[in-house]
Amino acid sequence: MKSKPSILVLGAGIQGICVALALRKRGYRVTVIEQMPDLMLRASLRNEGKIHLGFVYANDASFQTSALMLRAALQFAPLFEAWLETPVDWGALCSTPFVYLVMRDSMLASEKIHAHYERLQNCLQEMIDAGEAANYLGNDLRDKKLWKRSDSATAQWFAPAHVGEFIDTVEVALNCEQFRKRIRAALARMPEIELRYGHRIEHIERSAEGFCVQGTRADGTGWHRSADLVINCLWEGRLALDEQLGITPRRAFVMRLKYRLLVEPCAGLKNLPSLTMVLGRYGDVVQHTRGLTYLSWYPACLRGWSSGIIPPREWDDVCAGKPPKEIARQVARETLNAFDEIVPGLGASRVHTVDGGVIYSWGETDIDDHTSKLHTRHEIGYTEHDGYYSVDTGKFTCAPMFAEQLVRELDE
Ligand SMILES: Cc1cc2nc3c(=O)[nH]c(=O)nc-3n(C[C@H](O)[C@H](O)[C@H](O)COP(=O)(O)OP(=O)(O)OC[C@H]3O[C@@H](n4cnc5c(N)ncnc54)[C@H](O)[C@@H]3O)c2cc1C
Repeated sequence: MKSKPSILVLGAGIQGICVALALRKRGYRVTVIEQMPDLMLRASLRNEGKIHLGFVYANDASFQTSALMLRAALQFAPLFEAWLETPVDWGALCSTPFVYLVMRDSMLASEKIHAHYERLQNCLQEMIDAGEAANYLGNDLRDKKLWKRSDSATAQWFAPAHVGEFIDTVEVALNCEQFRKRIRAALARMPEIELRYGHRIEHIERSAEGFCVQGTRADGTGWHRSADLVINCLWEGRLALDEQLGITPRRAFVMRLKYRLLVEPCAGLKNLPSLTMVLGRYGDVVQHTRGLTYLSWYPACLRGWSSGIIPPREWDDVCAGKPPKEIARQVARETLNAFDEIVPGLGASRVHTVDGGVIYSWGETDIDDHTSKLHTRHEIGYTEHDGYYSVDTGKFTCAPMFAEQLVRELDE
């Protein structure tokens, strides 16, 4: 029997970990190389954790982004359970469901938003009719409505001047820290996945054996590894390595540095639902049943915009959880002030954490431009270059689906 090729997975974010799990499931041994001291400590920890059903992409008239998110969301739990070979208690990891607030100055009017949500409902039905899984993080969506107008009680939380309409959805977010711990515990029992932390990757070249990857350890010493195949899941570090093999982005892209806050709201807001405000430069609140509340107000939290292959060096501390103190204070203050106008009392929350992560996407202009590519996020996933795979995760939501697709193709 032909032996399996040796494989290096670069990056232990959600994407690299999903690829490693999918490879293991098909009988491969794999090495994951990561600069941080543990898995999922960058964007995959410091993001909102929403497993998108497609609601926020109402401005993509092609509907392709929403369809992709919906499909990916429905595969998230089944793929993880297959890879971990055990059921997962998703209820313990999930937030309360999101209420969508249609803001009075929304880029899209309510009727257009409703039409988009109805299309989403029909799309779900088509997927179910085609035999696709309908398991959304433990919630069986067969015969379920994805959305409905909220009852009048929801309005109690909000200042009426800003919000036009309230919509209940079944969408939820994962608690990223709890999820990370769950995956880490599972990997500890999987010797087929070798995890090499504290290894910065600096150089790649093709060699007689396939590829040689080199870099520096946390203690400053050098390292190198060879393998038949390489899978690049480095997120904001991805393009720099691609470029060394002559692979360049095929059009304009942007890396945005976006902050988040973890806070403890005052006692009176304990039952505030999770919120997403649409459609424009607004924000999100994620209420976890256990643990801190996530806040992100786009105008205050967007703190960097770069079209360079390598993002600015000063972003690195923010992504590693150590933002400059003065900027962190400013982000927190501006975020709380903005939310307090919409949700009276939220501004008095106690701030525990301020940090952020990078969002890579195609595009040149910000989300308040109707034609911005930031509204169309379906052109994501992996590309293959003669044994070298480069994965644009796009969204946390999509990582398991892309890993499964990639490994299926590789295996074939
Ligand atoms: C504030 C914010 C909110 C978001 N909200 C959502 C959301 O609600 N839902 C959603 O679906 N998506 C969301 N996203 C997007 C989501 O976080 C990303 O798509 C996803 O986490 C990317 O996963 P990844 O594994 O590709 O990247 P990462 O998690 O960043 O993993 C890449 C890994 O590669 C390592 N690495 C990079 N360069 C090197 C190098 N040179 N040497 C060694 N190691 C290296 C990094 O340390 C890192 O661990 C959000 C992002 C941000 C920043």
